[in-house]
Amino acid sequence: MKKILSFALMATAFIFSSCQNKSNDNTEESNVPASDVYFTEDISPEGVMQLFEYVKENVKGNVGIKVHFGEDGNTYFVPATMVEPLCKALDATLIETNVAYKGRRSETDTHIELAHDHGFTFAPIDILDSEGELEVPIEGGKQFKTAYLGKNIDKYETIIYFTHFKGHGRSGFGGCIKNASMGMATPKGKRIMHTSDFPEVVASKCTGCSACSYDCPVNAITITDNGPVIDREKCIGCGKCISTCTFDAIQPASDSLQTERFLEGLVEYAKAATQNRNNIYFNVVINLSPTCDCGGHPEAPFCGNIGILASTDIVAIEAAAHDLVDKATDSDDAFLKVNSVSGKHQIEYAEKLGMGNKKYNLINIDKK
Ligand code: SF4
Ligand code: SF4
Repeated sequence: MKKILSFALMATAFIFSSCQNKSNDNTEESNVPASDVYFTEDISPEGVMQLFEYVKENVKGNVGIKVHFGEDGNTYFVPATMVEPLCKALDATLIETNVAYKGRRSETDTHIELAHDHGFTFAPIDILDSEGELEVPIEGGKQFKTAYLGKNIDKYETIIYFTHFKGHGRSGFGGCIKNASMGMATPKGKRIMHTSDFPEVVASKCTGCSACSYDCPVNAITITDNGPVIDREKCIGCGKCISTCTFDAIQPASDSLQTERFLEGLVEYAKAATQNRNNIYFNVVINLSPTCDCGGHPEAPFCGNIGILASTDIVAIEAAAHDLVDKATDSDDAFLKVNSVSGKHQIEYAEKLGMGNKKYNLINIDKK
């Protein structure tokens, strides 16, 4: 009982005078060239259009712009006016997915109604999962083998992730990786990503009795020669197997392990959404609340507005945005400080999965 209880319990502007053409490249570590990340302190639609000039070569075919329409009660999302000229210039569609929790964003009709209420009236809106979902294999995935993405993603040859970079209670920070993962997943995919509290197996203690496998209500456990294997996509985190096993071979996962799994799951979904596609990334570093745009009662920003970044490398732009916030707050990890969660593993793991390069050249276009 103690183990079950324990398991259940776990169940404008800041001036950056030094960021012109700055590189975090460490050539002693690797010969891979640093990726370009463009930056402006001009937090305006004009600033967005000027940045776009540096990354526009990646645009091909039909363009979808992934935004967040905001939530009732939350005013920190990136205003519609910021993306309007870019959207019109590209004749693009605004794209989003429904959420897994109750509210206007859980159903397509009310989601579009909310988007209109928040000023996103200048372009067609496509809720990607309104016509179903796609199962997309995740190459090299450790947490997941398949991602569940909104079916309409395949309508777009180019996707621009127009992202609000801010804090997030579960992932430390939320930037382009989170926008491409949680933001492109169907409600089912979102629920799966959030169930990172499945148990941990201590294979050396397993006797192979199969009791846990019999007791699992969703048949998530397979007994192998190497001990029990828990199917991550079936497990509902009920904890029954923990109490069933009298050999302590199945135990609650630690908080840090859960966080690592959650961050890696996010990155894997982002990989599924971005692979084999033309992508452009924007991080709009404003309204730096510790919490995300999905909450109706966000915490006040902990840092002044910084600027806007653009890149074709999702890893580099996350690293650059994080470093700017760290510098603005004189911190090694600003989000760890405000959320007690470091999200930096997103950046490390995304690079490991071959999604990009955490080494970057920060190019301040205001100084050109
Ligand atoms: S109940 Fe425990 S010992 Fe038996 S198979 Fe499951 S993990 Fe192994
Ligand atoms: S019994 Fe099955 S569903 Fe419940 S925590 Fe164990 S593996 Fe997951």
